[in-house]
Amino acid sequence: MQLTPQGRVTARTQVVAVIGDPITHSLSPVIHNAAFASVGLDWVCVAFPVASGDARSAIDGVRSLGLRGLSVTMPHKREVARLLDDLSPVATALDSVNCVARSGDRLRGDNTDGAGFLAGLQEDFGFDPAGRDCVVLGAGGAARAVVLALAGAGAAQVRIVNRTTSTAEAAAAIAPDVAVVAAPSDVPAADLVVNATPVGMQRPGGGPGELPVDPELLRPGQVVAELVYHPASTPLMAAATARGARSANGLSMLVHQAAVAFTQWTGVDAPVAAMAAAARSALEGTG
Ligand code: NAP
Repeated sequence: MQLTPQGRVTARTQVVAVIGDPITHSLSPVIHNAAFASVGLDWVCVAFPVASGDARSAIDGVRSLGLRGLSVTMPHKREVARLLDDLSPVATALDSVNCVARSGDRLRGDNTDGAGFLAGLQEDFGFDPAGRDCVVLGAGGAARAVVLALAGAGAAQVRIVNRTTSTAEAAAAIAPDVAVVAAPSDVPAADLVVNATPVGMQRPGGGPGELPVDPELLRPGQVVAELVYHPASTPLMAAATARGARSANGLSMLVHQAAVAFTQWTGVDAPVAAMAAAARSALEGTG
């Protein structure tokens, strides 16, 4: 267990939290407590299970208890966007908040997934989306954040491939200048393929993972970015490697979205290496 720099929580310790349901598997406390310890801040991060429909009382609690920041996960990202004093342009465009920061008495919502994704792309592959053709598999919350981020980073085209067309259309509408609904046959032309579906995630019982796209559509030289980070290597990553593409899992996005939140809360540069090491070691312990 990580402790505050003083080795214990006192009446002076500043508190941030993560809310969601389920929440017991969240890596946020591990990542943020490692960061607080690394930079010597007397802060602590705890997890609260908050049932669907209870976000309003949780945000009231953030206000009355003076929490310094909040991470927000399923199923509250959309509801929380309606409960704050201010929203960043990204949170407004996505209608989704994963990070709440306090500024005096005001609470501001942001969505740090897209910034985390771009930082992870740079870290894992040195990949700059400007002028590049991108395919995003999936059209849910994570995909929407990725689509907006790729568009903001100057991607030439963002093709959204999803099993439900209406969801793909809604995601494309977030970045109408560059995003379009597409088909699996568009995958070979892409410089970047992002898996923003849960396909490939570790299942209870550990059955064999599945592929979100026909591996024959991948080609040498492509960058294949998984958002899934558990297991550390997915069937898509194995297929990408076998086809001569480069691939990495979603751990870098997870760490970098947390790093952006950390800096918004504390005003301190995030110790990314310590955060990544803590996340990796926690994941290794989960089998
Ligand atoms: P979500 O909102 O539930 O969206 C899931 C998307 O995947 C939907 O477009 C859905 O299609 C599609 N999908 C689900 N099951 C599928 C299947 N069996 N076959 C084909 N498509 C399927 O979920 P999310 O929050 O976007 O998360 C997606 C993944 O990203 C999860 O694995 C999550 O853990 C990961 N993630 C990672 C990070 C990170 O930091 N690395 C951050 C956020 C999310 P329909 O529209 O047809 O339902």
